[in-house]
Amino acid sequence: MALDPQRTVADLKELRELTGDENGAQRVAWTDTWERAREWLRTLVAETGAVESVDAAGNQWFTLAGGSTQAVLIGGHIDSVPNGGWLDGALNIVAGVEVLRRIAAQGQPAVTVRLVNWADEEGARFGRSLFGSSAAAGSMADQDELRQLVDRDGTRLPEALAAHGVDLDRALDARAELETAAAYLELHIEQGPVLESLGIPLGVVQGTFGVERHRVTWRGQAAHAGSTPMDKRRDALAGAAKLALEIREIARRTGGGAVCTSGGVVCKPGIVTSVVETAEQLLDQRDLDARRLATMLAETKASSERFAAEESIDVEWEKIWSIEPILFDETLLGFCEEAIVEVDGVAHRLPSGPLHDAAEVARAGVPTVMMFVQSLRGLSHTKLEDTREDHLELAVSALDLLASKTIGWVAEGGGR
Ligand SMILES: [Zn+2]
Repeated sequence: MALDPQRTVADLKELRELTGDENGAQRVAWTDTWERAREWLRTLVAETGAVESVDAAGNQWFTLAGGSTQAVLIGGHIDSVPNGGWLDGALNIVAGVEVLRRIAAQGQPAVTVRLVNWADEEGARFGRSLFGSSAAAGSMADQDELRQLVDRDGTRLPEALAAHGVDLDRALDARAELETAAAYLELHIEQGPVLESLGIPLGVVQGTFGVERHRVTWRGQAAHAGSTPMDKRRDALAGAAKLALEIREIARRTGGGAVCTSGGVVCKPGIVTSVVETAEQLLDQRDLDARRLATMLAETKASSERFAAEESIDVEWEKIWSIEPILFDETLLGFCEEAIVEVDGVAHRLPSGPLHDAAEVARAGVPTVMMFVQSLRGLSHTKLEDTREDHLELAVSALDLLASKTIGWVAEGGGR
């Protein structure tokens, strides 16, 4: 059986019919619709002869045993956000099935090939993303917080997991799954506008951005809006406003795709007749290079001190969350680029702004690469999410070539 990329598009449409409605995909993890999608996947893969197993974190594995237990993994997530798109996560899974079909039809592969459907990548119901992959990677360290998480209907996360056969206390046992992993491949929609603006269907993902998130609190003095002269004010919002504009300049100076966002400012007392006493500003900064990210943060802090002095107010920084940049494997980046060039003639290297399961697997020390296919209008997490069908087909062909190259490499002793 030869690779049939058109079948992937047809399979994706079938999944959309089965698990979506007029508002989009409804495959939220730990729900009946999600379970129906997993059941559908089970049936789809059965014809390849790959053997199914579900690990301690609820990840669904399909294993095609090869000449060696060393395994090349192809991974994605069938869960979606509520009212989500038809391709986010599901594309990698369904394209992976097509690759398994092609490999199975050619007899036993040189090394083991495994398709993994990660559980709860989106974190849509409980607000914790990358659940299954972080358990398998061994980086899940927040069990105590996870135990406290409650969804909108008051159901606790451990109960929701138990309803799908997963015991939170045992989730980290999923680590055993990566023991034989030699390499990890993930195809994903870009979810951004870069490839479309370049007119290029496929891209090689260099890695995922490092992230620095901070709460910046500005403190001035509340004072009457009518009786306080302009030169006597200590306006906390003035500091936040200056910084919101300055970070554009800082990101531009940093270059290389660096981004800075002032995602929100909450002012107190927040009434029309008072100068702002405190302004709490949320800041998100991202870059692929750890040194550049650190410099960008340092420059932003220095600017905030300057603005505080100019406005006679105080400024205080508090870290909310951070993660280091995760760079993908050089050899696999090369294979990915070759595969794309072979199917389409031109490849572009770009970083990923969003985190993906691939970042968790890479952090666990498994050589990893991702491939992006163009997203129309850069939209995702909405029913408007879309990709041209001919581009989806190119993506399946390129993933298949990437898988072949990677299997050959691992068979010769490459990978982990
Ligand atoms: Zn995704």
